[in-house]
Amino acid sequence: MAKKKKTASAQKEKEKGQKSGKHVYLFGRSKTDGNGGMKPLLGGKGAGLAEMCRIGLPVPPGFTITTEVCTYYYDHKRTYPSDLRAQMQTGLASIEKETGKKFGDVKNPLLVSVRSGARDSMPGMMDTILNLGLNDQTVEALSKKTGNPRFAWDCYRRFVQMYGDVVLGVQKRPGEDHEPFETVIDTLKHERYHKDIEDTKLTPGDLKELVVRFKALVKERAGKEFPASPWDQLMGAVGAVFGSWMNDRAIVYRRKYNIPSEWGTAVNVQAMVYGNTGDRSGSGVAFTRNPANGAKEFYGEFLINAQGEDVVAGVRTPEPVAQLNTHLPKAYAELERIRQTLEKHFKDVQDFEFTIEDETVYMLQTRNGKRTAMAALKFSMDMFKEKLIDWKTAVMRNPADQLDQLLAPVFDATEAGKAKAIATGLPAGPGAASGQIYLNAERAVVAADRKEQVLLVRVETSPEDLRGMIAAEGILTARGGVSSHAALVARQMGKVCVCGASALEVDYQARTVKVDGKTYKEGDWLSIDGTAGKVFPGRLKTASSEIVAGLLEGDEAAKKTEKFKSFQQLMKWCDDATRMSVRTNADTPEQTKNAIAFGAVGIGLCRTEHMFFEGNRIDAMREMILADTIDARKAALAKLLPYQRDDFAGIFRALDGYPATIRFLDPPLHEFLPHTPDQQKDLAKKMGISAEKIHARVEQLHEFNPMLGFRGCRLGIDFPEISEMQARAVFEAAAIVQKEGKKVRPEIMIPLVGFKKELDLQLEVVHRVAREVQAEQKVKLSYMVGTMIEVPRGALTADEIAQSAEFFSFGTNDLTQTGLGMSRDDSGSFLPHYAELEIVKKNPFATIDAGGVGQLVEMAVKKGRGVKKDLKLGICGEHGGDPDSIKFFEQVGLDYVSASPFRVPVARLAAAQAAITGKK
Ligand code: PEP
Ligand code: MG
Repeated sequence: MAKKKKTASAQKEKEKGQKSGKHVYLFGRSKTDGNGGMKPLLGGKGAGLAEMCRIGLPVPPGFTITTEVCTYYYDHKRTYPSDLRAQMQTGLASIEKETGKKFGDVKNPLLVSVRSGARDSMPGMMDTILNLGLNDQTVEALSKKTGNPRFAWDCYRRFVQMYGDVVLGVQKRPGEDHEPFETVIDTLKHERYHKDIEDTKLTPGDLKELVVRFKALVKERAGKEFPASPWDQLMGAVGAVFGSWMNDRAIVYRRKYNIPSEWGTAVNVQAMVYGNTGDRSGSGVAFTRNPANGAKEFYGEFLINAQGEDVVAGVRTPEPVAQLNTHLPKAYAELERIRQTLEKHFKDVQDFEFTIEDETVYMLQTRNGKRTAMAALKFSMDMFKEKLIDWKTAVMRNPADQLDQLLAPVFDATEAGKAKAIATGLPAGPGAASGQIYLNAERAVVAADRKEQVLLVRVETSPEDLRGMIAAEGILTARGGVSSHAALVARQMGKVCVCGASALEVDYQARTVKVDGKTYKEGDWLSIDGTAGKVFPGRLKTASSEIVAGLLEGDEAAKKTEKFKSFQQLMKWCDDATRMSVRTNADTPEQTKNAIAFGAVGIGLCRTEHMFFEGNRIDAMREMILADTIDARKAALAKLLPYQRDDFAGIFRALDGYPATIRFLDPPLHEFLPHTPDQQKDLAKKMGISAEKIHARVEQLHEFNPMLGFRGCRLGIDFPEISEMQARAVFEAAAIVQKEGKKVRPEIMIPLVGFKKELDLQLEVVHRVAREVQAEQKVKLSYMVGTMIEVPRGALTADEIAQSAEFFSFGTNDLTQTGLGMSRDDSGSFLPHYAELEIVKKNPFATIDAGGVGQLVEMAVKKGRGVKKDLKLGICGEHGGDPDSIKFFEQVGLDYVSASPFRVPVARLAAAQAAITGKK
């Protein structure tokens, strides 16, 4: 027993030993351990700080505790590697040396900030503590040293407030609308001044009193004294940052952006610089170019006499950065110099935080700026022209999953021209959105679940509102600037957003918004234009974006816009870079035309059953399904033939020589059956038979598992006359259009094949009908016949099937359904929980499950091409429009992906990016 214990502890020691490498990386003027390429280890912020030090930018010294320590912390019951504290001591000593101050010193105290910093930035999701190291003694020293008691006490009250909130958990309780510390501030202001005054007007005496009341609040709510020892404060703060990696809002954020929890966060401990020492100081955030519309202009905002947190919190509305030139011209010139240096060095648009302390500029952070799709497009074009990047980099700079933002509607210009804006704010997230207003995130989510179009309206948003923001069409805030939480998150999500619309009086209690003399209740409609920053009453009509107007509606004015031209240039580069081509899933000539205008080079899937839902075709289809004799079925099929032929002819004309993969009927039958007594009665009347008979046949055809039942090629095998009718419709249409002088390239596709024999039986029918039609019409048609690979047996025996098939198209919807044994219709009940538990990283029906279902695809590719070297391979499941899946399909060597018409540009961009990355 004793021995066992010893071995276990030795093992523990060993594990600790293995981990006890370098946990702390210094940065500063004198020594910098890391660099910008070390994001996985140092997090984005840590790597950015290190890189800025390396290129000589003014960065206050500090150190980064690595993300590995975060992983260790969670793997070891929230404890640290044994030598972490010693390494932190060395780090602090180095900061002390560079600043000439000492941590906890009662003469010249060093104060530090403690900030999180994950590999990818997670705006507002993690917690930050400023002014750490203050206590009742050091505050006096700071006051004396700076000769500025107001400043010293302001720092102290901020520190107690932040630390109390973040580390000691003194936060808003359910039902409370205000932060408890803010309530204490409001109470004091009203007691002493009988009105709401600005924070900057509070006297040192007021601030001192606030510290006392804050500490009492902490004691009451957290049940313990506020820690006085700077080292206790530091260790508590580090623990809180690591702890915040697993808080609810961080988890929600990670899930939305697929950030693995194993990545962990780093912690940055950095010497404080102060933007709140007076009117020659300030803090701000800025972008080297405009991240909303892409313009090449210095963009950002600042607050005089404030710490960085005030700018992002949206409590005071900051001024645009250009104004700084009037307030503090020297600092402005320095920032302009830094802006140029950053772009030249990083060759991408940077989003940075700065503090000005007595007119000296310090850099606190830099990272690649988040941007809207519109801005990404303009940045990439402009930077290419400026020779900062090459064309392939320009392609890579446009996030494929954001590209559809460019196709999103805008407000109809005439409607918007007529409408009178009731408020104006900052244009923080471009686009147009109308919605029923809700004033809190929970109610917004509930309304969205009820399928309402929701507009989330808040005084300002905070990370707690994330779920509501996800659910909303648009976000409108009364306070906060373009870098407020609402603006950052909206931009990233591609949500329409107007912030800082100060004319709005948002009343959380009454659940109303008063503006322009009117009161809007929850559920009332408002519209926002996130490109112009305007708020309109009611529900405004929207119009197509310039790209859609130019490409699909032939709008000549739209074609002249910069947005349209840049988009076309990007698409042209995509064509130059890509290996795979992009087809579309389309069932009508209209959809086909749209897809071709978007750059599709053929149809990858025409679902013929979709053609039967229209008008009274459904009746003939139902007759066909319900027929219990071959003659009755043939009679119904004869009614369907002309519809199909006309549709195919229309599609061939729209394709103008591009190939069309036409899939034979694949209805899970229940989709077509008349289920309600009224539908049955109606159909009985039309067919001249009794409703009872129809009812009995419906019962007879009932399946427990229709997705695994009588569908796909099983239908054509049992009833070859169905395939025969479809083949005839395809070939007759091909003959008609070919005679009109157009090239026609039909590719008939047999669905749900798992056995070679299934395909062979259908091939016999197709080839026979082809021969007949060619003889009747006296034409020579060129066509192919292939199959879908969408059940595991099809993939497993792909070498046999390839002997008969001229092409494969992967039906990844069914392949996922059957490969995972998860119903594509019913998995919504448990998949979200699976995602929460990270059993699946992403919804496998949206992004291919590369490790599982992907293996089936890979195997079928190898087996198929082993038999036929040039076997044409494509994918037509929903994954064909998903950028991550497209990357996978590039890697396994498919020839094309097929996506719905409006996803075609996204697929083209993703395919080009996959090819570029693959070649690197
Ligand atoms: C598929 O299964 O992936 C497919 C494209 O076919 P359907 O979605 O029509 O079943
Ligand atoms: Mg299928």
